Amino acid sequence: MSPLLREAALLAYQRVTKQYRQTLVDRFRSCSSFPGAVLFYHRVADTVPNSWSISSRNFIQHLDWLGERFDFVSLDETRDAQISGSRSRATVHITFDDGYSENWLVALPELIRRGVPTTYFVSTHYIESGEPFLHDVAAGAPLRPNTRVEIQSMVEAGITIGAHSHTHVDFGRDLSDETLRREISDVRKKLQDWTGQPIHYFAFPYGLPSNVSQRAIDRVFESGFLAFVSAAGGFNFPGGDHRHLQRIHADPGMAALTNWLTFDPRKTMRGSPIQYSSEKLDSLLDTNASC
Ligand SMILES: [Zn+2]
Repeated sequence: MSPLLREAALLAYQRVTKQYRQTLVDRFRSCSSFPGAVLFYHRVADTVPNSWSISSRNFIQHLDWLGERFDFVSLDETRDAQISGSRSRATVHITFDDGYSENWLVALPELIRRGVPTTYFVSTHYIESGEPFLHDVAAGAPLRPNTRVEIQSMVEAGITIGAHSHTHVDFGRDLSDETLRREISDVRKKLQDWTGQPIHYFAFPYGLPSNVSQRAIDRVFESGFLAFVSAAGGFNFPGGDHRHLQRIHADPGMAALTNWLTFDPRKTMRGSPIQYSSEKLDSLLDTNASC
């Protein structure tokens, strides 16, 4: 289906389900049970468009639309509502993955100007080396990653930095303990050294259930992270999981965004796409509680 046809179909679906969506919102309001939305972007750029970029004009449209309907909150606040079991307003949190230098052109200045809480997940190898991501090289469009100076400027401007592994590894593969340490634990230590701040959140590269393993999740919590985020699409219902925060891909255009965030009934019925055991995590988190 072409992007235009898909957009038209989504808008038509939204119109047909408008009444049901309103019923859901009324219920969320009366029960203080609004699901928390967490969006993820990669690149806001007007050149070399690809499937993980969005134009600066479109990104501004997203922020305008969101700002009229949602409270922009931090990832900590999103997690707090998971723990408290109550969310009386519709909230959204903005995240970015990877660490592309172009985000300094429009996205970050705009987010900072508007005071929008943002978490910026970076893969440390590319920041350190200045090398382009392998998936961009393979696509014939090597793009410049952020520098450490840029990361520091973000921190000074109030952007929260998160960990996105060292080399953007796929954790669905069978990785050695040594690799897990380098890609998870060492990254947290390194980013804390770089930023002078605690690093609380880990974003699994690719972020689908097939890109995550129980061993990697265990390592995330052993390393002191409070929660990990995924990228399979999904809301965070208050009282639900506070160690795994689900994220929604912020597609270019408006139809997919408005379809998700006016609470598409299909998407509010979905459970967590990632299943994991929390037995070991419970004891680990008790140990880490004072960190
Ligand atoms: Zn990534």
